[in-house]
Amino acid sequence: MDTKVEKKALLEKDEKYLWHAMKKYNPEGTMISTHADGVWVTDIEGNKYLDAQAGLWCVNVGYGRDELADVCAEQLKQMPYYPLTQSHIPGIQLSEKLNQWLEDDYVIFYSNSGSEANETAFKIARQYYQQANQPNRYKFVSRYRSYHGSSLATLAAGGQNQRAYKYEPLASGFVHISPPDCYRSPFPQDTMACCLHAADELDRTLTWEISDTVAGFIMEPIITGGGVLVPHDNYMKRVREICDKHGVLLIADEVINGFGRTGKPFGFMHYDVKPDIITMAKGLTSGYMPLAATAVKREIYEEFTASATPYDHFRHVNTFGGSPAACAVAIRNLEIMEEEQLISNSKQLGVYLLEELQDLLQHPHVGDIRGKGLLAGIELVKDKQTKEPIEEKLAAQVVNECKQKGVIIGKTSDTVDGYNNIITMSPPLSITKAEISHLTSVLKEAIIKL
Ligand code: PMP
Repeated sequence: MDTKVEKKALLEKDEKYLWHAMKKYNPEGTMISTHADGVWVTDIEGNKYLDAQAGLWCVNVGYGRDELADVCAEQLKQMPYYPLTQSHIPGIQLSEKLNQWLEDDYVIFYSNSGSEANETAFKIARQYYQQANQPNRYKFVSRYRSYHGSSLATLAAGGQNQRAYKYEPLASGFVHISPPDCYRSPFPQDTMACCLHAADELDRTLTWEISDTVAGFIMEPIITGGGVLVPHDNYMKRVREICDKHGVLLIADEVINGFGRTGKPFGFMHYDVKPDIITMAKGLTSGYMPLAATAVKREIYEEFTASATPYDHFRHVNTFGGSPAACAVAIRNLEIMEEEQLISNSKQLGVYLLEELQDLLQHPHVGDIRGKGLLAGIELVKDKQTKEPIEEKLAAQVVNECKQKGVIIGKTSDTVDGYNNIITMSPPLSITKAEISHLTSVLKEAIIKL
């Protein structure tokens, strides 16, 4: 069949039967992708796109890795499924490997998505304190502009209220503080002062909420979807001190930050801290299979195993979490990152990406450029003096222009009116220097037209 005719027929069925996430962001029509290799995605008509978003920030090793398909097929043939109420070899091996990547003593609970990994973290934290004789600790603190998932508790944790308000009532017990946004800070020349000020808000909030009602503080080490907010190096360390002072667990959401995205195995590793709970998904399998994990410090885990009281075990079951094939894919995915030194690629090419973008700062509508590793954001403003955000439709125009020229980038969306002005990039960590140059030249052309 002629591809145009085939596309039309498929789009008619797509329109009729398929409910897409964020449909209104496809004004030019839905792209039907058919194959992909490296950083390149091809659509049904044969158009090729450089995917500088790595799908939804997840295809860390790039597309077209036959080895991942092979390992998956072999595992499906050998033993497609068995629940982790018992055990299986890929599950054991992956947990050991994650422990090595985490460089400390964590026990791993598996699920299928970042949302579930965070939900799991909240349930573990609440039950931990119940059993550790601090039953009043049920609240969680998180930051405005953060995203932690789409379920009713993770939406409550997130600080992007346009995504949440139509689903009220959400899970209760979530309190928000400001993120460390050094571009829009009371101390614009001093990122350390900005971040310590933001961390002190956590200290005050924990006091005002009454510390011993709070179970945990959840944060991405670097806020990603909320606008790529890179804190000063001292911020997370101060957060760790404040959590310790108030006896609150520090939960690091590494769903995007993890697995090399920021130029280290995990985002928290930039900041010389150890979280109590670490959640991960996306880059764990580079999106080749659904898999997520909640890594918990051994002392917390032992509160569930040491007790002689019935029902003190973690009363949480997940049918598909940690399926053998997903674990086998994750192991091979991590091996590829090790063999090809993709984390160091992320670090080095991340520096190159930011350098290549720097001259855009001359442009009247480019307020700020920031990033770490292969994670970058460009904040578009109406006016550099007032920092008033550019209209969302103009940020969308940049995204659409790039797409028309064969480059897929992202932008903040559904955050809060006025904050949907930030262009985001998170290409596969296997991207080359030449591909970054191509990405930046297309992006610059689109921004210059503003
Ligand atoms: N945490 C963060 C930081 C995320 O970016 C996301 C998804 N974008 C999630 C959690 C939720 O992950 P999922 O969509 O797999 O549920």
